[in-house]
Amino acid sequence: MNTDTAILQEELLQFLREDQVSTNETILTNHSKDESYHEGSLPDLVVFPESAEEISKIIKVADASGTPVIPFGLGSSLEGHIIAYDKGITIDFSSMNKVTEVRYKDFLVKVQPGVTRSQLNKALKKHGLFFSVDPGADATLGGMAATNASGTTSVKYGVMKDQVQDLEVVLPSGEIIHTGSLARKSSSGYDLTSLYVGSEGTLGCITELTLRVYGIPEHVMAARASFPTIDHAVEAVISMLQAGVPVARVELLDEASIRRVNQFNGTDYIEKATLFLEFHGNEAGLQEDVAFMEEIVKNHECEVIHFEKDNAARMKLWEARHNLAYAYIHGSPGKKMMVTDVCVPISELAGAIRHGREKIAELDLESGILGHVGDGNYHALLMIDMENEEELKKAEKFNEEIVEYALARGGTCTGEHGVGKGKMKYQKREHGKALPVMEAVKAAIDPKGIMNPGKLVHSERGNSQ
Ligand SMILES: Cc1cc2nc3c(=O)[nH]c(=O)nc-3n(C[C@H](O)[C@H](O)[C@H](O)COP(=O)(O)OP(=O)(O)OC[C@H]3O[C@@H](n4cnc5c(N)ncnc54)[C@H](O)[C@@H]3O)c2cc1C
Repeated sequence: MNTDTAILQEELLQFLREDQVSTNETILTNHSKDESYHEGSLPDLVVFPESAEEISKIIKVADASGTPVIPFGLGSSLEGHIIAYDKGITIDFSSMNKVTEVRYKDFLVKVQPGVTRSQLNKALKKHGLFFSVDPGADATLGGMAATNASGTTSVKYGVMKDQVQDLEVVLPSGEIIHTGSLARKSSSGYDLTSLYVGSEGTLGCITELTLRVYGIPEHVMAARASFPTIDHAVEAVISMLQAGVPVARVELLDEASIRRVNQFNGTDYIEKATLFLEFHGNEAGLQEDVAFMEEIVKNHECEVIHFEKDNAARMKLWEARHNLAYAYIHGSPGKKMMVTDVCVPISELAGAIRHGREKIAELDLESGILGHVGDGNYHALLMIDMENEEELKKAEKFNEEIVEYALARGGTCTGEHGVGKGKMKYQKREHGKALPVMEAVKAAIDPKGIMNPGKLVHSERGNSQ
């Protein structure tokens, strides 16, 4: 341990217990990288605070010495978001993992940032409620808010920013603020809640979230629809959305992805381009919605529709979808995963996926296409041998090409994973003159650039790297 780290540790131990401050090599390593191909870097220290007040004190210590602070939820982000490129203090929120209040009459819940989405849903079930956003990883709600995550149900219920009503935030100065209120709507002041959702730990630490929740639907129906080609499947989704079919989930998996699902989960799903679908509602309404969907998919040459009738089969279907990235990781030992994340207007989706598939065919890499197609968001999963520089270059070039395609059609480089380090290079192209406005916001709130430096936007410290 160097002298600066020893001094920091001593200062932190003035108000934290010894088990809340770690320089243990394994713990540093576990906090040094995310689940993607980005290379890791160790922080100096990892701290495990238990309250906003402790976080405020930690940030004041960091501020005094200009030490970077990296908020860390589960570390499941995919663009180097939590990597300590410039060392510093990583704040792990796993000890702040309580559901503090269920306001069932208001359809609101208050949680600490380290609560995971499945933990929250377990706590809500006895109230007949559920939280809708479900990224593939069992991420923390703090991390999900900080990346504006979404998932399979966003086509019906919206993304993370639609669910966050209020945040408690510790600013880079150590001040503790609230960004919203318990009121369903408000026209009062700048919308700081929206500013902090998607801020990726660059503007402060989220220490409590007030989130919207929903009643568990009376009836749920899930189905798998197989198509002769991926084009047919995508066109069917576009027709469904344009016809206003109230689908709650619609996920696309190409043939390669279905193969991975079968290998990883032991299922025997038909190995063709497939839509996983789900509908929520009352029995009569559901029957109408499903009949409408059937008519549309048949018009697009759907070959087989298999309805998952019982709860267990339905759970298995969505578990298989959520495990898909892990199916690729486990199926390609020794390789790292690059996931693209473009999102385009629905009318451009078929063209975007067709363009992506043509480019992928030129790569000769283990890969697949999947997506939250109801939102216009698709991912190419590329498995890369990091020892092979040419593979990495090919994958990066592909990523650049599809981002360029999406931006030229009014889309975005990232629909849900966020910018982190990996997508900073596209920010100028995507935001133009709005980017300096974002940099000015960062400089105003975090003048020393201590919060998660080198991510999302350039700051004083980030520029110097
Ligand atoms: C298998 C797999 C599937 C995935 N599927 C999806 C998907 O379907 N949809 C999707 O949106 N994403 C998906 N992701 C990406 C990832 O799960 C999300 O980005 C998730 O929201 C990150 O949450 P986390 O708790 O892991 O946060 P971390 O990775 O720990 O952190 C993410 C960012 O948030 C910041 N942060 C964390 N906690 C706080 C806090 N309390 N205050 C301030 N900043 C904070 C961090 O500094 C970092 O910048 C997937 C990842 C994997 C590995």
